[in-house]
Amino acid sequence: MRYEDPAMPNSPDSPPLFPPRERVVDVLLPVAIGSAYSYRVPDGMEVAVGDIVVVPLGTRNMLGCVWPRGDTPKPADAKPVDRARLKPIQRRYDVSPLKAEMIAFINWIADYTVTPPGMVLRLALRHDESAGLARERTGVRLTDHRPERRTRAREKVIAALEDGFVRAKSEAAKEAGVSPSVVDGLIDDGVLETVVLPPEPAAEAPDPDHAVPALLPAQAQAAARLVASVKDGTFQPFLVDGVTGSGKTEAYFEAVAQAIRQGRQTLILMPEIALTQAFLDRFARRFGVRPAEWHSAVSTRRRGRIFRGVAAGEVSVVAGARSALFLPFADLGLILVDEEHDAAYKQEDGVHYHARDMAVVRARLEGATIALVSATPSIETEVNARRGRYVRLALPERFAGTKVPRLEPIDLRREGPPRGQWIAPRLAQEMARTVEAGGQALLFLNRRGYAPLTLCRACGHRIRCPSCSSWLVEHRFRRRLECHQCGYAMPVPNECPNCHEPNALIPCGPGVERLHEEAAKLFPQARLQVLSSDLAGGVERLRAELKAIEDGEVDIIIGTQLVAKGHNFPGLAMVGVIDADVGLGHGDPRAAERTFQLLHQVAGRAGRHEVEGRAFLQTYMPDHPVMQALVAGDRDAFYDREIAIREEAHLPPFARFAALIVSGTDAHAAQAHARALAACSPFTDKVRVLGPAEAPLALIRGRHRYRLLARCERGFDLSAYVRAWMAGAPRARGSLKVEIDIDPQSFV
Ligand code: ADP
Ligand code: ZN
Repeated sequence: MRYEDPAMPNSPDSPPLFPPRERVVDVLLPVAIGSAYSYRVPDGMEVAVGDIVVVPLGTRNMLGCVWPRGDTPKPADAKPVDRARLKPIQRRYDVSPLKAEMIAFINWIADYTVTPPGMVLRLALRHDESAGLARERTGVRLTDHRPERRTRAREKVIAALEDGFVRAKSEAAKEAGVSPSVVDGLIDDGVLETVVLPPEPAAEAPDPDHAVPALLPAQAQAAARLVASVKDGTFQPFLVDGVTGSGKTEAYFEAVAQAIRQGRQTLILMPEIALTQAFLDRFARRFGVRPAEWHSAVSTRRRGRIFRGVAAGEVSVVAGARSALFLPFADLGLILVDEEHDAAYKQEDGVHYHARDMAVVRARLEGATIALVSATPSIETEVNARRGRYVRLALPERFAGTKVPRLEPIDLRREGPPRGQWIAPRLAQEMARTVEAGGQALLFLNRRGYAPLTLCRACGHRIRCPSCSSWLVEHRFRRRLECHQCGYAMPVPNECPNCHEPNALIPCGPGVERLHEEAAKLFPQARLQVLSSDLAGGVERLRAELKAIEDGEVDIIIGTQLVAKGHNFPGLAMVGVIDADVGLGHGDPRAAERTFQLLHQVAGRAGRHEVEGRAFLQTYMPDHPVMQALVAGDRDAFYDREIAIREEAHLPPFARFAALIVSGTDAHAAQAHARALAACSPFTDKVRVLGPAEAPLALIRGRHRYRLLARCERGFDLSAYVRAWMAGAPRARGSLKVEIDIDPQSFV
């Protein structure tokens, strides 16, 4: 790659926000401190609000952001600033400053989630633990000076650089076919000079007109509404609501094209980006190039580049996991939240935020169009659409003209498999028929490993994790028992750890490995593949296996929820759900919703192309309303009923919850602290505080957990309530920790 003489971008030309004489600024640091700290601006440095700077904190240097003064509360006992003693800012990064909208967004989330703003800033700066932003690339260029000592190698370098272009040092050496030390020597002799290179482009520009598809009327209608909204440039949320395979993606691509034409940026959020290569390729077919990809598996260096490119407005489309929400877009015009109902959008540690909800907030702050996309919207989103707060764009039919598969119940009470097996005879028959006809079958069981429980036949002992309240799961392939909470693992013992009876341990219940064993016995000729996150070889291997399935190299797929998400298996003719009831009956208010969504999604994997698909649900509860709605294909019946139940029972979105999770290594101390918190909750008739109660997962990683739940009506500022509560609460000392989860999704 060659570079013209680089002109480094200068500092932004916004007016200085601090009069020169002041020279003291607030810097927010990505740590759990409630307020920004003051720093001195050294002579000769100009900084403005939003600038990314490095400042000393204690003995360390740390990345921070210049924050508006008075934006974060100062502690009541804060001493007046003694300017002379303030530490100076070390340096200012040459990246675009965070915009006012971004600062407002960070403050908003901090307020809402009751988290120190620094912890939210950390989400925005986390890609850059040390290198990403800092690294400046340099290159070399020929000067007019010629060396006194001439060698063949030196001549080669000079010849290669004769054209006057700048090259990275390694590139110059490579091109000349010499070692880098030759280049170094020429630099020392003044024959070459070092220059700073402009950052590499983070992504190529997508072409909105690369391959424009002919849309079906419903698609065209939806696309037109989205395009008009992007043109309009005002905040407007949409729900793109259509069965799997109805062409939602193709429709919203038109809105992306519009944003590109207007030079505005697009963010596409996906729940499982590491596995959505297919999506990136599809984007490339439509727009000529892939979008910039953002998730934890992208290298730090590349993320640094994308961060800069996004901030400078050079990257026009980012497809990413929920953390992409915190990228500093220069001009965000469109946000798409694909599979908006997916639970992966909720971050359950650190800052407890829901990326879908916060995406709506961001869109509002940026004046952007936002579309939530799903075949099975969350209850919250469905209610918002029914109330007209979100505009519903419906795509009722599959693009390929096939029907969404009918779901047929298999009543395990009457036609279940023999003891110790999990595939009912009728399901096995259907599988045989499918495979014989050259189609693919998917068995869905959302349980990793071989067996979820290992039991001693002699004494009844069940093997549990030493530091969690969960059973150890047998992974026969790895010959280990593993804890799915904390990762603890041990070899499968030969004797019972309790009564020491040899050969008495028996696996209970099925996991995908065990199901694989059973299917292999039933279908010895078939080509089988297990797909779960345990697949050795990680994401790369998974991608390869998904490709093999797509290419028809597998007859029977046995998979966990990994296969439910977004994959397109053209040859998949049938789906068998081994345990449709598994998610129900936990007393979790979202159990019915989750089950409905998951089973609907899984079933929707079948028959997306020419073949009509079929789906079977093995259930002990064929009369359960969720099963009935699935079997009848009556989505509205499910939503009507579930919404009515939520309203009746004062559950979200008709009421609001905040959960407090108190944990500690000592159970008594944790419980006592939870009680103390309950006792000091501010009294108001607007809020009811329930608990503390031992959490369903009472022990995780050696920490005992207690939960409190605050409930209020919609429209009440629950965050402000919790903030006031925490301000007057005893401090959590020692190993104790209090986590705050506003709008909790999980209740375990
Ligand atoms: P969804 O996002 O609703 O699941 P997709 O957008 O993935 O649906 O569409 C399903 C299939 O139909 C895909 O293979 C897609 O390429 C194809 N498809 C959808 N709309 C069109 C169109 N207008 N022209 C050509 N192919 C289309
Ligand atoms: Zn554990």
